Amino acid sequence: PLVLGIETSCDETGIGIVRGRTLLSNTIASSMEEHARYGGVVPEVAARAHLEALQPAIAAALAEASVSLDELDAVAVTSGPGLAGALMVGIGAAKALAVSLDRPLYAVNHLVGHIAADILDADAPPIEYPTVALLVSGGHTSLLLVRDLTTDVELLGETVDDAAGEAFDKVARLLGLPYPGGPEIDRAARDGDPTAIPFPRGLSRASDMDKHRYDFSFSGLKTAVARFTEQQQAAGVEVPVADVAASFREAVVDVLITKALDACARFDVPRLLLGGGVIANRRLREVATLRADAAGVALRIPPLSLCTDNGAMIAGLAAELIRSGRPASTLGFGADSTLPVTEIQVAEDLDAG
Ligand code: ATP
Ligand code: MG
Ligand code: FE
Repeated sequence: PLVLGIETSCDETGIGIVRGRTLLSNTIASSMEEHARYGGVVPEVAARAHLEALQPAIAAALAEASVSLDELDAVAVTSGPGLAGALMVGIGAAKALAVSLDRPLYAVNHLVGHIAADILDADAPPIEYPTVALLVSGGHTSLLLVRDLTTDVELLGETVDDAAGEAFDKVARLLGLPYPGGPEIDRAARDGDPTAIPFPRGLSRASDMDKHRYDFSFSGLKTAVARFTEQQQAAGVEVPVADVAASFREAVVDVLITKALDACARFDVPRLLLGGGVIANRRLREVATLRADAAGVALRIPPLSLCTDNGAMIAGLAAELIRSGRPASTLGFGADSTLPVTEIQVAEDLDAG
């Protein structure tokens, strides 16, 4: 099916068009620069920016894919989680589009969308199930056991405090680097020594393993970085930004990949999907590739352009739902800012309850 996906959960206005598992276009307009001076996303500003960016982004995506609106088979939209006001702008546009074109509308989960980005990898064979999936984004850090991306996503564990992306953003601020911090730390770390400072690996001690085997914690790491930089400053020493960035990045990547591969071994599932904005991290992609290979685990990493928020992953997930015969969403759904990752599609069939 030819599907147009709309993503407005945060500060990216993403419009993607797919034909089945083939990506046709992926247009992204970001209001990032408007938020940068506040050090984080301002909800009201994001919602207004979506309102202005949606129409041109849809036109650009259609042009890039060389398709017209009436050729679409379905419309897809992120219904949560995310900023309620931002979500509502995309949902309103998607409902209007679906009604005016008389096409089915699929309301899907943004987090499952991040994982579904892996479907759109043209060079890889279809995803095999079950598979472990690691979702690492600005608001979430979750380890999942996926029996089928359209019907069965189980949450194995998640962060008990900060998300990994949030930790990147906060540590960047400590180091005087601009928002968003992930790409900045990645860049700063390039010339640093990842073994320079032994930062803690949260929830990975033997004593954590019963209750928190698949949970994550990044606030202790953030505090350790803060303490280290304060000590350097108090001693009148210049903070070795490259070494701190490299050591911090190494600690995050190490614990993420260790726990993901541990889940693969424990559930006897030699497959791992990665998804979310932090998967754009160079060192994470490198370490995941090396260690999955050594463990005999088949790894799928979305292309860089599909890691951070985009509409293509939303369209891709909806195309997969259509392929597996799921009914469209009824039009009564709204924005759910705290939609859990286990809820793949919203209002899929209210009558059938
Ligand atoms: P969620 O998906 O949980 O709702 P979100 O949509 O805001 O949150 P994403 O767009 O998936 O998050 O990812 C954004 C996050 O990814 C930011 O925290 C950003 O710093 C981080 N990020 C982006 N690129 C990199 C990178 N190269 N290295 C590390 N982190 C990165
Ligand atoms: Mg964003
Ligand atoms: Fe996201």
